[in-house]
Amino acid sequence: MADQTQPLDSGDAATRDASPEDVLRHHAKVDFPCDNCGARMVWDPDRDALYCEHCEHVRPVPEEDEATILERPLSEAGTSSRGLGLELRAVRCGNCGAQIALDSADTARECVYCGSSNVLAQEANRNALRPESLVPLDVGREQVMDSFRTWLGKLWFRPNALKELKHAEAVGIYVPFWTFDAQVHSDWSAQAGYYYYVTVPKVVVINGKAQVQMVQERRVRWEPAYGRRDDLYDDLLISGSRGLSRILLDELGPFDTTALVPYRPEYLAGWRAEEYQVDLDDGWTEGQNRIEETQRRRCSGDVPGDTQRMLKVHNAIRDITWKHVLLPVWSLTYHFNGKAYPVLVHGQSGKVVGKAPWSWVKILLAVGGVGAVAGVVGVAGG
Ligand SMILES: [Zn+2]
Ligand SMILES: [Zn+2]
Repeated sequence: MADQTQPLDSGDAATRDASPEDVLRHHAKVDFPCDNCGARMVWDPDRDALYCEHCEHVRPVPEEDEATILERPLSEAGTSSRGLGLELRAVRCGNCGAQIALDSADTARECVYCGSSNVLAQEANRNALRPESLVPLDVGREQVMDSFRTWLGKLWFRPNALKELKHAEAVGIYVPFWTFDAQVHSDWSAQAGYYYYVTVPKVVVINGKAQVQMVQERRVRWEPAYGRRDDLYDDLLISGSRGLSRILLDELGPFDTTALVPYRPEYLAGWRAEEYQVDLDDGWTEGQNRIEETQRRRCSGDVPGDTQRMLKVHNAIRDITWKHVLLPVWSLTYHFNGKAYPVLVHGQSGKVVGKAPWSWVKILLAVGGVGAVAGVVGVAGG
């Protein structure tokens, strides 16, 4: 863990136009020096403010009017602000491809997402679109460690040593997302099917003899159907992350975007932020696909009758606006038998998602127990 109490020194570090190595070698300038002692302040989720670990000074982050969260039309990407507004370095993971911006005093030897130690120093991307807003980290470090220990304690078939594990470093990361708002008008046409039943004679064989019986048979009457609907999309979230798979994100669960506040670099002090690698265009392509999928499902639900076929949907999407937002996640990487295991904790709900090593001894004992009951012995050879 980096020494977070180190006072401001060498404030003249030339970080512009420096090679990544130079950037790393220098102590970059302190972005938010303490008013009291000049040490570096970090954003503290428990206090909802900047906090100096050196002298315990607390400084609130100025609140901006909610109305200043801008939603921009797609055409305006070219004129938007760039960069994160503070001195950052970045590391790129050679395994999963995530690029993480770090605070100047922070160090990263492992990827926060996949635990790989194949991380390389990079220049932070100053040209990336600046986030409009973010959800500040809400779950504090203590709570994260509690959730993590509870999670470990509940795992089955895990090595006992794992439950004794006390030390895992928790790192707060802001994950990049695009949010889209849009109005969608959908026109659809389909054939709606209505079931009806007819009684028909049918030859059946009973006791070797052919007999005629009257049976009910289901038929479908097809009728053309068409309709239209209007839907509003508000804050459709599309991930811009490379490190977090959609599977992991789905497991972590949704984010409450009503907690968004206008972006201020203070919130990033002492934390990490992933740089988006799905750009606005690709994000919108994905957003559009999700809208089309959703509208198709909704229109299908509108088709009357008992069954349907040949559904055609035409969507007109307009008033599209976007925001670039950062949402909070904690990453803990713990080591067991020389292997790194990353675990993620939702920065709003505290939900834990992650992998843990299996205890083969415990699994074999359990399989042996079940096997003995079932009368199958010797499953666990070798
Ligand atoms: Zn201080
Ligand atoms: Zn990685």
